Amino acid sequence: MEKIGSKSFYEKLGKVEKALFEEYGYPEPPNRPEPVKSLIRTILSQNTNDRNRDIAAERLFEKFPTTEEILEADLKDVEEAVRPAGLGKTKAGRIQNFLRLVKEEKGEITLDHVVEMDKEEAKSYLQKFDGIGPKTAAVTLLFVFGKPVMPVDTHVHRLSKRIGLIPEKTSRKKAHDILEEVVDDEKMYRFHINLIKHGRSVCKARKPLCEKCVLKGLCDYYKKRKEGLSRSF
Ligand code: SF4
Repeated sequence: MEKIGSKSFYEKLGKVEKALFEEYGYPEPPNRPEPVKSLIRTILSQNTNDRNRDIAAERLFEKFPTTEEILEADLKDVEEAVRPAGLGKTKAGRIQNFLRLVKEEKGEITLDHVVEMDKEEAKSYLQKFDGIGPKTAAVTLLFVFGKPVMPVDTHVHRLSKRIGLIPEKTSRKKAHDILEEVVDDEKMYRFHINLIKHGRSVCKARKPLCEKCVLKGLCDYYKKRKEGLSRSF
């Protein structure tokens, strides 16, 4: 792969972004949803799919319409509500713990103070809560607060390695740092979304559809495969 930060690296990154934008368009960030509930949804999404997350979130917010009510509820009732997302007890505990600590700190359940933080400060702040790791923090900061951070899920991680934007052995945690450094702030959201779209529809984990891929001329994995040197990523 090209040396990260070199001229040829940025040329390749620009071509990858352009090809994906042409294929999937320029998705716009959603209207800023309610931050605390959005963070709860992100906790629910850990280790499950979007559908199960949505079912669990709907059950939770239907049973407890306000975050105060979620905090005051019995842990077992919260656990029961979020059960469709899996790891019910763990997630219920994380949610209540987060709500309790925020309320102790701010006197009310709010994340409005995060708006004023720069992205590094905001990341550290969110990650101090139990069960909020780099990805959950990054998703919340990008989607809810519009901060230029790059959440690295399984698709972003796999594609970045295959294309050659990060070295093959890069951890997810390190991938956050590299991608955030090299992708322009204003392109962060749409590049993130387009990588996921491409990962779901073309660059699948088990059988990437390389022959119909718009990135094949730019992709290290494809090049190696063509040369008979492909390994499983
Ligand atoms: S060429 Fe193949 S491995 Fe490379 S990005 Fe496209 S689908 Fe993925």
